[in-house]
Amino acid sequence: MSVKVFPCDLCGHDDPVEVPYVRFYTNNQPVHICRKCGFVYVRERRSAKEIADTWSNELFGEIYTSAWPAVKARLLYVAEFVDSTVGLKGKRVTEIGGGEGAFLELISRHYGAEVFGVEPSGQNCRAMNAKGLECFQGTIEEYAASGNPADFDLAAILWTLENCMSCRDMLAAAHGLLKDDGHIVVATGSRILVPFKKPLDYYFSANPADTHAFRFSANTLRAMLAVCGFAPLHINRYIDTDYLVVVAGKRPEGVEIEWKGDDYLAVYDFFERWHKESLHYRTGET
Ligand SMILES: [Zn+2]
Repeated sequence: MSVKVFPCDLCGHDDPVEVPYVRFYTNNQPVHICRKCGFVYVRERRSAKEIADTWSNELFGEIYTSAWPAVKARLLYVAEFVDSTVGLKGKRVTEIGGGEGAFLELISRHYGAEVFGVEPSGQNCRAMNAKGLECFQGTIEEYAASGNPADFDLAAILWTLENCMSCRDMLAAAHGLLKDDGHIVVATGSRILVPFKKPLDYYFSANPADTHAFRFSANTLRAMLAVCGFAPLHINRYIDTDYLVVVAGKRPEGVEIEWKGDDYLAVYDFFERWHKESLHYRTGET
């Protein structure tokens, strides 16, 4: 197992402070806050393949399935949000980490999109094919290197960006797959600087910390998109929902897009308050 220490993925600085009390929830694994831009990230990570293998072999089936009502509901929310902002009808859409194809099937059947999945798991690809959906079995990097068309109108990264080894690599790969006037939609449930949606025990876990290396706020998700060549255009009413969803437009490589991060002390304070609030839910536990 090879473990590397990463600087902040957003601004590149390497002067973080630990999220307060985090080791209490993570089996003693640290998660950090960048003192310069406020981004929350896991500093020590294994290789992309080792992280992906942990997801495929240990975590995926156990904690996530698109058959859950809550998962179906959030995919419908994203479809409605994208359709109402940049439109889906007639668009060529790829989903990076398409899973069993639930989102692609939804937007193909009900929103008139032309869809194509990119998915590393053979089992998931077979599930997509069984639904009549085309897909490429492999990572986004392998798809990009395969010579297959890179002419998508929209790339979707749904509840996935926070779980890869490098969010910048994933967004760069998505950038390369899109037409010049293409869009990206990113959705995450790991949002911060919002009302606490659940006790902190349910937010962090004792799973390997690098399987969930990033925690985004509205600012840092838009900022991450900006440093990867996307201009954020639409953001959902994330205060009202459990999800943070951003639609952004592709800009040419090398074009600087303004961004701002968070005050790291505000992020520190947010987790400290959440920890105190979560202690109420532990009362009465045996
Ligand atoms: Zn930073």
